[in-house]
Amino acid sequence: MHIEAKELSKIYGQGEGRVTALDRAFLTIAPGDFISIIGPSGSGKSTLLHLLSGLDRPTSGQLTYDGKDIYRLSDKELSAFRRRRIGFIFQQFRLLPVLTARENIMMPLLLDKKQPDEGYLRELAGLLGIQERLTHLPHELSGGQQQRVAIARALIAKPDVIFADEPTGNLDSRSGGEVMELLKTVGKDLGKALVVITHDSRIAAMAQRRLSIVDGVLSEVAG
Ligand code: ADP
Ligand code: MG
Repeated sequence: MHIEAKELSKIYGQGEGRVTALDRAFLTIAPGDFISIIGPSGSGKSTLLHLLSGLDRPTSGQLTYDGKDIYRLSDKELSAFRRRRIGFIFQQFRLLPVLTARENIMMPLLLDKKQPDEGYLRELAGLLGIQERLTHLPHELSGGQQQRVAIARALIAKPDVIFADEPTGNLDSRSGGEVMELLKTVGKDLGKALVVITHDSRIAAMAQRRLSIVDGVLSEVAG
């Protein structure tokens, strides 16, 4: 799937409180791309990721998935599109505390009234090393394990692209490194495009294409 953003802007507030969180961003994402976007706190990273993934709508600009303008979809259509085509990983994992790891992973399929794919769950759990943890509740898991469950949840519906917003931000450096390696391997093995936001230059350097964002202005990092 080819994703193309043109002149995407997001402005919050008005008058004195007006903030240009994203300023006319252009970006293309091709199948299998691994892109990192680095920027300081408040630079517009989450805003950009939410716009690219259809979690939010821009003030102006266009976003197409295989030529289709996804902001023309109704909120309901856009939610369904996101559940089927896009995986999202949050810094805070965002697992439902009363559900087991397995139930959390299956949630996107249940919301879509799709049959759970047991074989694919086993494959993902194996790749992510959480086979023995599927019956546990989130609070019974370490941070790194919780994020691996969240990665499986992002992948279970077989999306074309994964967006991750500081996926290692709540992890110590060792489990953060492990989670990034896994994300990279899984993305590659399953042929997914991967867009990772970070403020860690070591993580940014793992990507094949690197971008940076400063005060809402997105640019490609040379080299
Ligand atoms: P980052 O993820 O890089 O830390 P964000 O995208 O969250 O940055 O925020 C970019 C800018 O937009 C910041 O100045 C932030 O305060 C502002 N901002 C983000 N969300 C909102 C909102 N809902 N309302 C008003 N301002 C916001
Ligand atoms: Mg953020």
